[in-house]
Amino acid sequence: MKADPEAQRRLLDLQAIDIALTQLAHKRKSLPEHAELDRLARELSTMEDERVRAQVAVDDLDRDISRLERDAEQVRARKDKDQARLDAGTGPARELEALQHEIATLKRRQGELEDAELELMEQRETAQAALDEVAGRLTETRSVRAAAEQRRDEALAGIAKDEEFRRSGRKPLAADLPADLITLYDKIRESSGGIGAAMLRHGRCEGCRLELAGGDKARVKAAAADEVVRCEECRRILVRTAESGL
Ligand SMILES: [Zn+2]
Repeated sequence: MKADPEAQRRLLDLQAIDIALTQLAHKRKSLPEHAELDRLARELSTMEDERVRAQVAVDDLDRDISRLERDAEQVRARKDKDQARLDAGTGPARELEALQHEIATLKRRQGELEDAELELMEQRETAQAALDEVAGRLTETRSVRAAAEQRRDEALAGIAKDEEFRRSGRKPLAADLPADLITLYDKIRESSGGIGAAMLRHGRCEGCRLELAGGDKARVKAAAADEVVRCEECRRILVRTAESGL
């Protein structure tokens, strides 16, 4: 293949832009915020489960406390009714004695219920503290996540801007190069880790970093300036410049 030596040298400018674009694509994928956000998502999911369990514990205790309060209310009403009947003092002595006995039993029962309620109230306080604690952690972690999302978005916007800048430089450069040269360059780039053209610098191919063997060097030196030469080792387009050391 033949191509104007100047076009061959501009291929190196194109290659520099393509390397920058590859690096930007890699940077986009490997932003530390991606890993951080994955970790935070897992942490938040665990915390959300914790919060639900803590809420259920509080709700269960509330329900138990309400039931105890209803029971205590019934006992109190019954006791008040008995007391009123006793105070009225009507009825046979045996009946009044039975009422006194029942009132004593109800008082004991009321005391038991109040003690049980007190204990549940203490448990509820502990459960509420656990709920508040996990809710606080959730709020804190969500704000950490929001900050990480903002950092990620800013980094992505910066990368997009850099890419736009590189692409706007690439377009006229590529349009100006011979189509068959670009096609060859793209084909090699695809099969050779993104590098299609390399400079021959001081007798060394900058694509594979290998020094050209004596016979090879002579072949490249003898080739016409407009001949597109390839590295024998890596098959990349070898671009000759004043620094080639030929
Ligand atoms: Zn090479």
